Amino acid sequence: MSEPIPIVNYLVLGEAPHLVSYECTNCKARFFGRRNACASCFGSEFNQVEVATTGELRSFTIVAFAAPGVEVPFVSGIIDCDGTSVNANIINTKPDPEHVVLGMKVQLATYSMGADADGVEAIGFGFEPIEAA
Ligand SMILES: [Zn+2]
Repeated sequence: MSEPIPIVNYLVLGEAPHLVSYECTNCKARFFGRRNACASCFGSEFNQVEVATTGELRSFTIVAFAAPGVEVPFVSGIIDCDGTSVNANIINTKPDPEHVVLGMKVQLATYSMGADADGVEAIGFGFEPIEAA
């Protein structure tokens, strides 16, 4: 068996999966995925920073129609993780307005997207509601 691979290169797996963003050393804007220049100030130096694995749902859309093969409905959201905006799906809950509400607390969750012909498993991520204690 091979090691599972994250579906995007800014998802870091392991015992405590988390997202990594590039932070512009000049203006502190954060981006996911490697880029050559900062979209805010055109700076070209970045530090890699760990993004908080918990956050608050800032905005969401319940997607009812999608490309063939994509299960609908699903919830596409923008999560504020301690100041970093993350675009991700809200998972492990029912995709309706009763279960998905603005401002709710969510946490990073990973899931298997299946394996390819060589048995390499791909891991995707989303955010799931944090159960009220
Ligand atoms: Zn910048």
